[in-house]
Amino acid sequence: MKIAEIYAKFDQIGCLTFATIDHGYPQTRIAHLFAYDHEGLYFRTMITKPFYAQLKQNGRVSICGMFPQTSVSHDNEGMPYFAPGYTIRATGEIREIPFETLQKKATTEEMFMLGVKDIQKYPAMTTFCLYRAWGEVYDFDFEMEQRPHKLLRTGFSFGGQPIPERGMRINEDCTACGECQENCSFKAIYQKDEAYVIDPAKCDVCGDCYTICPAGAVDIVIENPED
Ligand code: SF4
Ligand code: SF4
Repeated sequence: MKIAEIYAKFDQIGCLTFATIDHGYPQTRIAHLFAYDHEGLYFRTMITKPFYAQLKQNGRVSICGMFPQTSVSHDNEGMPYFAPGYTIRATGEIREIPFETLQKKATTEEMFMLGVKDIQKYPAMTTFCLYRAWGEVYDFDFEMEQRPHKLLRTGFSFGGQPIPERGMRINEDCTACGECQENCSFKAIYQKDEAYVIDPAKCDVCGDCYTICPAGAVDIVIENPED
């Protein structure tokens, strides 16, 4: 995904959850992105807020949101129902942008003018750029109303950050019994040259295959983003 597409997905949501760490505690608040360019995604806060101190202290942030609705309804059996939509998240490194830099960007890109005007109105306001990050669009249709599988996950990264591998993987102990494929309600397991393979774009990491496999042939993969 290009950064313009990533921004458009976030912008369609509007209000997003921004997560930081404060003295070891996770902290979240609602904010929004207001611009993007080839360097990254941009947001604002005030230098007087704890959010600012956390951003400066850690140099990292995680952002997520959900579209088109965040409310949960229930079916006749009381089970949760989610209308088809998507969630998106991005995690990475941030840097503060000097006001002069923002002004310069505003001369060629109109969307940065909003930030310039806001800072002129509220002098304690400042801008950050998420310049190196990875994330994912988690497109869901759990009832398979619009397509024959529940998920379509699309990973992305920018600023030179690789996408860390995370999810489930079938290893060489697989005896090809097929039980995992029969029990995967996400239809994420397929056969290739007799071997069973998990499609990470369709896998929810629900763990059904992991618990059911008689050969212990399903691994949980959690790659460190800094590897
Ligand atoms: S259940 Fe285990 S052994 Fe059977 S096909 Fe799946 S991964 Fe292979
Ligand atoms: S973790 Fe769940 S969704 Fe993923 S392959 Fe296994 S059973 Fe299917």
